[in-house]
Amino acid sequence: MDPLDAFSPDHDTARARFREAATAAGWTLSTLPLTATGPGGEPLGIDVAWKGAEQPRRAVVVSSGTHGVEGYFGSAVQLSLLEGPWSAVEPPAGDALVMLHAINPYGFAWNRRVNEDNVDLNRNFLLRGQAFAGVDDGYVRLEGLLNPPSPPGGFEAFLLRAVWQIARTGFGALKAAVAVGQYEFPKGLFYGGSGPTESQRLLGDALPRWFGATERVLHLDLHTGMGAWGTCALAVAEDEDSDRVGWLASRFDGVEGLSEAGVLYPIRGALGAWLQEQVPTCTYLCMLAEYGTHPPIKVLAALRGENRAAHWGHAQAPSTLAAKAAMLEAFAPADPGWRRSVVGSALALAEQALATLDDPSPPEQP
Ligand SMILES: [Zn+2]
Repeated sequence: MDPLDAFSPDHDTARARFREAATAAGWTLSTLPLTATGPGGEPLGIDVAWKGAEQPRRAVVVSSGTHGVEGYFGSAVQLSLLEGPWSAVEPPAGDALVMLHAINPYGFAWNRRVNEDNVDLNRNFLLRGQAFAGVDDGYVRLEGLLNPPSPPGGFEAFLLRAVWQIARTGFGALKAAVAVGQYEFPKGLFYGGSGPTESQRLLGDALPRWFGATERVLHLDLHTGMGAWGTCALAVAEDEDSDRVGWLASRFDGVEGLSEAGVLYPIRGALGAWLQEQVPTCTYLCMLAEYGTHPPIKVLAALRGENRAAHWGHAQAPSTLAAKAAMLEAFAPADPGWRRSVVGSALALAEQALATLDDPSPPEQP
C-alpha cells in the first residue's frame, strides 16, 4: 500500500480501517471504552489488536495517538503494518505483537493534542507519590501570551512576534519552561491534569493482565511535531547513561535518553516510566519515536491557536476551522514526500523492534 493511502481523513475512518485490517490479518481485537464521545456523538475507545500468546514471554507494542491529533500519522503506520509486512506475521512461539490504536481517542477525534479534560496525556502519567501540582516560573511569565482568554484572530501577528522574540533570546530555556508540563492552568497548553485521566486508568487496569508475567516489553510510541522536518528522534525517558538506554542504543540508531540539549527534553508525567511501574517484574522499555514536522514556533502557534479556539471560540467559526486546519498541518503535514518518508521510516523501526523478540540478554529493570 502507498503510505499516502494509509492516512485517513478523520479518526472514525482511521478506527474502522484499523479494526478491519486487524481482523482480516487474524489479530484478536478488543476495546478499552472511553466515556467521552466523538464530534458525531460516536463512542470512542482505545482499540487493542493482539497477535500471538495471550500471556506472552516477550512482547512488542506499537501505539498511536497518545497526543490525539498525532494519531493521523501513528494510525497510518499501524494500518501500513497490518496491510503490509505484518499482514501474515507470526511472532516467535510464546511471544506477542500488540497494537494500541489511539491512546487518546478524544484528541484524535477532535483534532486536539489533549484529551477531553484538556490534559496532555504525556504529562499525566505521574508515578505513585508524585503530585499533580506545580508550574515552571518561566511558564507563569508567559501564561498570558500562551493562553489568551479569547478566540484566535485580531492581534495574532503581534503576539507571535512576541513569542518569536522570546524564542530568539533562549529557545531552549523557553522550551524547557513551557513544555515540561504544568498542573496549575487547566485551560493552558501542556496541562498535565489534576489526577489520572480515563486513558491512564484504563491502561493501568489492563497492563497487569497483559504483561504481569511477561519478561520484556519493547514499546514504540509514535509521535509527531518535534524535531527537523521528516527526521526521527528516538527517546527513552530514562537516564542517558543507563543500561536500558545502552541496550536500546545498540539495537536502534540514534536512541537518546531525555536531555535538555536533545530534540526531546525532560518532561513530567511521561508514559514510559509509568508503564514500567505498572508491571514491576517485567523489563518494560518504552521508546518514543518522534517525527519532525514544521519549525517549533509554527507548531507552538498552531497549538496556541487551537487551544484558544477550543476554549473560547465557536465550533463553526471560520477562526476555529482555520485553527483546526493549522493543527492538522502542524502534526500531520499534507506534503506527500513527508508522509511517505515518515511512514517508511516507522515501518522499518517496527520491523527492528520485532527482530528483538529473538534477541537474548534483556537489560534489568531499574
Ligand atoms: Zn506527541
